Amino acid sequence: EVVVVGSCMTDLVSLTTRLPRAGETILGHKFFIGFGGKGANQCVQSARLGAKTSLICKVGKDSFGNDYVENLKKNGISTAFVGQTTDAATGTASIIVNSEGQNVIVIVPGANLLLNFEDLKRASDVICNAKVVVCQLEITPAVSLEALKMAHASGAPALADLDPQFYTYSDIFCCNETEAEILTGIPVGNLEDAEKVGRMLLQRGCKLVIVTLGAEGCMMISAEEPIPKHVPAGKVRAVDTTGAGDSFMGALAFYLAYYPKLPMEEMIRKSNCVASVSVQASGTQSSYPYRKDLPQDLF
Ligand code: ADP
Repeated sequence: EVVVVGSCMTDLVSLTTRLPRAGETILGHKFFIGFGGKGANQCVQSARLGAKTSLICKVGKDSFGNDYVENLKKNGISTAFVGQTTDAATGTASIIVNSEGQNVIVIVPGANLLLNFEDLKRASDVICNAKVVVCQLEITPAVSLEALKMAHASGAPALADLDPQFYTYSDIFCCNETEAEILTGIPVGNLEDAEKVGRMLLQRGCKLVIVTLGAEGCMMISAEEPIPKHVPAGKVRAVDTTGAGDSFMGALAFYLAYYPKLPMEEMIRKSNCVASVSVQASGTQSSYPYRKDLPQDLF
């Protein structure tokens, strides 16, 4: 089973011709609600590839929360450890996108920050028996770290992105170019920069680093074999790359859990393929492919 400990956010998206200035009211031409949050995104992609999945998260006892639980169920995800609280609202991302595709975003984490150690304890059987445990950082960092420690102690491979504290407890550490720069101070403009980032993160205690590089695919570097490998992505016409990184992570978790004998490079190549399909449709979870829509040689 793939177990994700992470966030759920309801995306509230308004499309406008331009972004409003302070104090200004403008008209938008379209509004839609989407399901997002890194944790849920990654879990949904894993489930759509056929993984048995469990999401450990917290939403509000409100209509967004109820809808989110329904969405998870529709995707075949176990919601046994999805908590609903009256103490905070479901996490939201209010997004305004102008006609050039630029955006402004306000995230209110709400219930996500109320996921706590007790919740993890209740789910400890599931976490400790997982094939793969996936963590990110849209919940309280200490809770995320505790989940990684539980996974680490039980021997399940743990995937994480972003926070430096997480290096030693995650078996695979994944970040995108922006995150790589925040962590290392190295702006990633080409493959050499990505190699430098990888080397630096290995020195900080990572066992395996993956830097995702958008259309360029990924750079991977492991402590065992410190010759970096570039794993290119296929050439596709990108429509909307929102959530591509989460699609990649969800796919990687699926391959780790169900094809553990594949060489890492092959798992990354396949995960690139899944993520590159997700960028060819708009939206976040709405663009994530199902197993039946993918080339069967990915399985
Ligand atoms: P994030 O969504 O976190 O910014 P990236 O942009 O690095 O992450 O994308 C994650 C993965 O999605 C890439 O490693 C690649 O597999 C795939 N991907 C993203 N953009 C493209 C693209 N334009 N063409 C093909 N694949 C892409």
